[in-house]
Amino acid sequence: MALTGIQIFKLLPKTNCKECGVPTCLAFAMNLASGKAELDACPYVSDEAKEQLAEASAPPIRPVALGKGVRKTTTGGETVLYRHEKTFFNPTVLAATVSSDIDTAELDKALKVYNAFQYERVGLNLRPELLVVKDAGNGADGFAAVAGKIAKESEFNLVLMTQDLDVMKAGIEAAGFKRPLLYAATADNADDMGALAKDNDLPLAVKADSVDALQALTEKLTGMGLKDLVLDPGSREIKQALEDQVAIRRAALKASNKALGFPTITFPCEMASNLDMETLIASMFVAKYGGIVVMSDFATESLFPLLLERLNIYTDPQRPMTVTEGIFEIGNPDENSPVLVTTNFALTYFIVSGEIEASRVPAWLLVKDSEGLSVLTAWAAGKFGGDDVGMFVKKSGIMDKVKHNTLIIPGYAAAIAGDVEEELPGWTITVGPREAAHLPAFLKTQ
Ligand code: SF4
Repeated sequence: MALTGIQIFKLLPKTNCKECGVPTCLAFAMNLASGKAELDACPYVSDEAKEQLAEASAPPIRPVALGKGVRKTTTGGETVLYRHEKTFFNPTVLAATVSSDIDTAELDKALKVYNAFQYERVGLNLRPELLVVKDAGNGADGFAAVAGKIAKESEFNLVLMTQDLDVMKAGIEAAGFKRPLLYAATADNADDMGALAKDNDLPLAVKADSVDALQALTEKLTGMGLKDLVLDPGSREIKQALEDQVAIRRAALKASNKALGFPTITFPCEMASNLDMETLIASMFVAKYGGIVVMSDFATESLFPLLLERLNIYTDPQRPMTVTEGIFEIGNPDENSPVLVTTNFALTYFIVSGEIEASRVPAWLLVKDSEGLSVLTAWAAGKFGGDDVGMFVKKSGIMDKVKHNTLIIPGYAAAIAGDVEEELPGWTITVGPREAAHLPAFLKTQ
């Protein structure tokens, strides 16, 4: 349970020395309680107080680190039921399934295809993270060979999926260096799987046939000293599966149920007979509240919408995505290239820069800080006024880079043209198109 500002204040030194950047310990405590400050900012907190505060500030759903390398990720760590209350922190991890009896050539082909599924969006690289190696009963060597090949020859991290302890040991030997998730401890094998996960310091999925049974199992495993658990309540029927996800999240957040305070793993691949239906089910789990979503396969028409949904849901609703204010060169512009100005809302920037690039007309794009608002909203909110834009152009340094004095402003901000002109005497202000899609044709006429 999170501490209040007053409870935190009682644990602080109360000297009001101001070294944390605020005038009083009370103000610092209030900032800490609302997540606006880090405890490390106060150099005088005792170790004992630190321990209490760290425990109190731990998220009710434990963050579990998965994998190593460029696709390593974390699942869990969530603190709210609804995104608008604060934000969701660790995006749902997307996985596809590979059978352990796949032949080498097929696996090479699949890895090549899977690796190519990477999409650039608002400056981010969107891609899936995990492959589940599923035991097909072809023995420990076959399982280890596939797990080892994926671990060594691809960026993907792994889930090792088998109920056979010897097969799991072989998989860990081959791919343990990539911190795979072991799937799964059940009522029948919890002691052995728990020991295996603990000895190798690996995260462990826990599978039961109901939320209650799951709770009993996690209590047993945490009693063995395991901390990094991932929950599978076993439901494979859509309605029940959704209810279980909600029940687990509510129990952890609202009832402070520590036995259910872990991320979940879900299996659309076991709930549908085709990838389209799997994708629909997966989209439900991305929204509520799947930590890991396992598909039977990756295909671009399924994966791309899921990645976009994930991006949208896990973007902080209180902080618009922005790019840094400044001058951006598109296509090696020179002193005669056109100069355009826009706002720093990431989507605006990437759409505008993409269209300029598509036009093949090299250009200078000035991005003005508008607190992450799009052009029309920024103008309406007084963050993209003519005076401001004019002053920004002056101090941006663009005048040292071009010989001409023509500035193209967005069509949606046509009303600021006069004020910009006043602020930039001698400059010609040209009103560009309203829609970025019309920029290529517009730039070719300049
Ligand atoms: Fe209080 Fe610590 Fe801030 Fe000093 S640095 S004012 S002791 S909270």
